[in-house]
Amino acid sequence: MGEYALEAQGLTKTFGGFNAVTDVNLKVRRGSIHALIGPNGAGKTTCFNLLTKTLTPTSGKVFLDGRDITRLRSAQVARQGLVRSFQISATFPHLTCLENVRVALQSNHGTAYKFWRSLKAVSALNERAHELLGQVGLGHQAHTPATELSYGKKRALEIATTLALDPKVMLLDEPTAGMGHEDIEPITDLIRKVSDGRTILIVEHNLSVVSSLCERITVLQHGEVLCEGAYAEVSNDPEVITAYMGG
Ligand code: ADP
Repeated sequence: MGEYALEAQGLTKTFGGFNAVTDVNLKVRRGSIHALIGPNGAGKTTCFNLLTKTLTPTSGKVFLDGRDITRLRSAQVARQGLVRSFQISATFPHLTCLENVRVALQSNHGTAYKFWRSLKAVSALNERAHELLGQVGLGHQAHTPATELSYGKKRALEIATTLALDPKVMLLDEPTAGMGHEDIEPITDLIRKVSDGRTILIVEHNLSVVSSLCERITVLQHGEVLCEGAYAEVSNDPEVITAYMGG
């Protein structure tokens, strides 16, 4: 396997005559946490949509583990191991935490008759669901409906449902958006913990979260890559400073 788990080459998206994303090249090193940052309207969400095939690129290619996935549909992309956690919580509010994780795990098995007839398989599935809840700190809230969780815990549950799909690469869309200070630290710690052995691409506005988590940062502006590097490099780049000051 190559050095990069996820790679975009010349990714471009045009809406009518407007270039939302232009010739974006991105290389996400295997096992790293990589951030995509930039001011509002820079093209971050469009990039995520292009990588997961929620949108079809006007041109350019996407590679997962060196394999060209540009022509796959979004469900196939997820099955190949590129899984996105949504900015707006994608969990089911009236299911318990355990049920939410089970639904995600079940989506890996579909409706295979043989699977659901097997006590061993179903026990293993339940065990895995409890294990995932434990990993994200929700072990003691397995039977709590998702809607009753605090905001921070809802994000943790969402991470558990993403992990249930056993992703090779996780895309996290603003995991700390709307969070108060008391929730930011636990979610940052959780992302660090679940990153063990995984590759994560994260869109994040909170730069202290970015600096504490991310090995590499790609900065977008007006749909183009402004610069890429370690936090110390990009945060000292005069163009980045201007972009963030609204220049
Ligand atoms: P970010 O996530 O960095 O805030 P977006 O990717 O949402 O940026 O948007 C990049 C640019 O593309 C913005 O100018 C936005 O208005 C435009 N854009 C996004 N989606 C569409 C769309 N479906 N149709 C037209 N323009 C769009």
